[in-house]
Amino acid sequence: MKNKIALVTGGTRGIGNSISEKLLEEGAFVIAVSKNKKINKEWVVSQKKLGFDKVDAYTCNVADYDDCQTVVADIKNKYGKVDILINNAGVTRDSLFNKMDKISWDAVMQTNLGGVFNITRPVIELMLDNRYGRIVNISSVNGQRGQSGQANYAAAKAGIYGFTTSLARETARKNITVNTVSPGYIATEMVMNMPEKIRRGIVSQVPVGRLGTTKEIADLVVFLTKENSGYITGADFSINGGLHMS
Ligand code: NDP
Repeated sequence: MKNKIALVTGGTRGIGNSISEKLLEEGAFVIAVSKNKKINKEWVVSQKKLGFDKVDAYTCNVADYDDCQTVVADIKNKYGKVDILINNAGVTRDSLFNKMDKISWDAVMQTNLGGVFNITRPVIELMLDNRYGRIVNISSVNGQRGQSGQANYAAAKAGIYGFTTSLARETARKNITVNTVSPGYIATEMVMNMPEKIRRGIVSQVPVGRLGTTKEIADLVVFLTKENSGYITGADFSINGGLHMS
């Protein structure tokens, strides 16, 4: 992956951070985007301390179309291309549907599904020009099976499958692959912030008997970004400890 430029949304924390680190280990130049300027700066410094020089980070709200256009234009000017795009940024605003307000619905749809459109739209132009691309969209087991309290999140994550397969069909002849990875419950802030009782209840339903690790997700995602994964497109990969089998 030595000459590859990778863009990872939400690439500074949680699953995204592990994906960024795995891509760096594989030799890619990694650009993370997130909303938090301070965390971005600290992340670049910490990666450089670990010996990874090929890193950059941009402050960008993926829910904002203009912001994404500007950031991708800056990346084009500075780096010339994007070979790998990981649409990982995501949020939750859980509540039972009869209590769900429009703000919570919009926040999740605009970030988790709108964000995929907003970043991919300018990036696909670069990939088409370059006749190369590897896109991995991070969905969720709850986009496959639904989840009480997550009508907004499950709807956005389910939407990613339609997006993935449609774009995969449109770009397959251009040497661009588009796939989805659907994690189960992974030990990140998103899950560790849940009340412990709920988390224990979730783990008790997982056949493997534990939460997944961010590294396990990163290994699968990065496999799909390799040049020799070019025959895999429009596919969804479940990685959930057996929580949902189809
Ligand atoms: P975290 O909350 O740990 O990290 C989320 C990342 O997304 C952060 O870097 C955050 O950046 C970024 N982000 C959020 N909103 C925006 C935005 N509007 N613009 C730019 N960046 C944003 O989440 P996880 O690592 O747990 O989750 C990563 C992905 O995996 C998500 O899409 C999630 O839905 C999915 N997933 C997670 C599972 C889990 O069990 N953890 C299970 C299944 C799927 P900032 O610092 O700016 O907030």
